Amino acid sequence: MILIDGKKAAAELRGELKLEVSELKEKFNKVPGLTVILIGDLTPSQIYVRNKEKSANEVGLKSEVIKYPDSVDEKTVLEKIAELNRDSSVSGILVQLPLPKHIDKQKVIEAIVPGKDVDGFHPMNVGNLSSGYESSVPCTPLGCYLLIKKIEPNLSGKKAVVIGRSNLNGKPMTQLLLKENCTVTITHSKTKDLKGECLKGDIIVAAVGIPELVKADWIKKDAIVIDVGINKTEKGIVGDVAFEEVSKVAKALTPVPGGVGPMTIACLLKNTIECFKRSQK
Ligand code: NAD
Repeated sequence: MILIDGKKAAAELRGELKLEVSELKEKFNKVPGLTVILIGDLTPSQIYVRNKEKSANEVGLKSEVIKYPDSVDEKTVLEKIAELNRDSSVSGILVQLPLPKHIDKQKVIEAIVPGKDVDGFHPMNVGNLSSGYESSVPCTPLGCYLLIKKIEPNLSGKKAVVIGRSNLNGKPMTQLLLKENCTVTITHSKTKDLKGECLKGDIIVAAVGIPELVKADWIKKDAIVIDVGINKTEKGIVGDVAFEEVSKVAKALTPVPGGVGPMTIACLLKNTIECFKRSQK
């Protein structure tokens, strides 16, 4: 079984991006810039943002974090986004989710110009991705996609089963696999025979949020299994896949932690660079 090492893959990707940033600097005499807006003092969000800033600096991006207290009003945030939209030194804008209840998430997402939407959440990017056009792609499914391609460069005709249909993970993952000519089944909480569907998959991507939901007898021999889940349990952080037993059946499997997670931030940096390059065209 191939243990898909997300830490190693992310380090390699950061290395490539660092090189690309230095080339862009030489060519344009400036570097891509990422601005993250962090609202409130939720610890996980603070940790994510700190890691994003650290990784951005590591590859040579210009990075900035704008912090607001929980009590900030929606207008202030929208005005700041409008200012960042106009700022040519900012290539990518990310508003760390979740937001306090009094701030309308969709309004905030749609306030970011699609060309700086490094999360790929703006409806324009969602539409472009599903139409097969150039777009920012949400970072976690993009990371999964890159890991799958490392194992199996030619995905044409493969059967893929995506578990979960969130805008963040399941739906964009489906689009990426479709683009690669996979036959994709998207499953969710109302799917009647999840095990039966999974058994057909050459590729399984689990993005559910239920600890160790996917068992060994759900997996076709030699399937590639990507575990997006991050679940806190008594025994620590586990994924949506029962790692030990599935590792005996799968051809390749991502661990949790150390699989998809590290790729997510690396893909945010990749998206920032892509936004910069598109803005220079
Ligand atoms: P979500 O809650 O928005 O969506 C979960 C999806 O799972 C829904 O579409 C739902 O229909 C489906 N689902 C729920 N119960 C099901 C069941 N019994 N059978 C089949 N499908 C079922 O979650 P999300 O934001 O997509 O996140 C999913 C998981 O991925 C979470 O554990 C989250 O922490 C993790 N996550 C990881 C990363 C990362 O970088 N690795 C990033 C984002 C999210």
